[in-house]
Amino acid sequence: MSVDSASLGQEVRAYEEQHPELKSVLSAVGRFLSVESRFSEEERLFGLRDLPQTEEITGRMEGGRFVLQKRSLNIPQKYVSRAFREIREIMADFYAITDEKGILKKQVGRFAGRVHRLGLKEFNVFTSGSQGLPKIVPLVLLYFTARPFYISFAEHVAKTGAVTGWTSGCCPVCGQAPLTAFLRAEDGARFLACGLCDTTWRFPRLACPFCDSPERAKARSFHLPGDEGRRVYVCEHCKTYLKTVDLGKLGRKPNLLLEYVATPHLDRLAKQSGYVPPDNLPLTLILGTTEETPVN
Ligand SMILES: [Zn+2]
Ligand SMILES: [Zn+2]
Repeated sequence: MSVDSASLGQEVRAYEEQHPELKSVLSAVGRFLSVESRFSEEERLFGLRDLPQTEEITGRMEGGRFVLQKRSLNIPQKYVSRAFREIREIMADFYAITDEKGILKKQVGRFAGRVHRLGLKEFNVFTSGSQGLPKIVPLVLLYFTARPFYISFAEHVAKTGAVTGWTSGCCPVCGQAPLTAFLRAEDGARFLACGLCDTTWRFPRLACPFCDSPERAKARSFHLPGDEGRRVYVCEHCKTYLKTVDLGKLGRKPNLLLEYVATPHLDRLAKQSGYVPPDNLPLTLILGTTEETPVN
């Protein structure tokens, strides 16, 4: 869903009031997200080249492949550059980024359309260009520069309706493991949410999206007393946890990325109990961000 900057600002402020100790990270993420709204639909979507048509999308998904499997997003460099410039401007409030030789810009330009395909090797190539800056800097730049285009692409895919038939634990559009999940207000149905392209897809409530042997997966969930709107699903087989919002109990539909960033206490609790977070790029970024922030 595209970001409406006025309601996003309101939501950020509400979270900041609830979690003053996370103020700087919440405000930064809010500002990064608002960059998306500065691109028109024309620029974000129709600027993308080689958009697949409905038959191709449904064909791929019916064959069990996610839409961007073995493919990259073809984003025109002028849009990547513009998004990069805006994200870098926000980052400059936190880190002194010189990038005199334009290495970071070049690296982001090179990888922005293939964030979902970054393996460990490429990932290291990418972060090694950070010129002495903490690794989080190039990651944040890459992730938030690429996100608006991934989201636009996912919106294009969603219009085909093909996502409703998807049953896998990874994102039907970009193949990432889910970052988070929510239980629908009307009936408690569980939807997984991608942290890169924002796609959400339905998934059985007690199955584990991370398990390579679903028959052995044994999921359960817990919540903190007094905070019924947030649950943590854990799998006793692969020991992965997934933060999940119960929309009926929370009483609103939050921005899931902000919600994620605002709840590091749930991550600590899950980790202390021996569980590990999902393994994906957005999370590497977000965990890096939140772990740098002192929390009580
Ligand atoms: Zn995705
Ligand atoms: Zn599992």
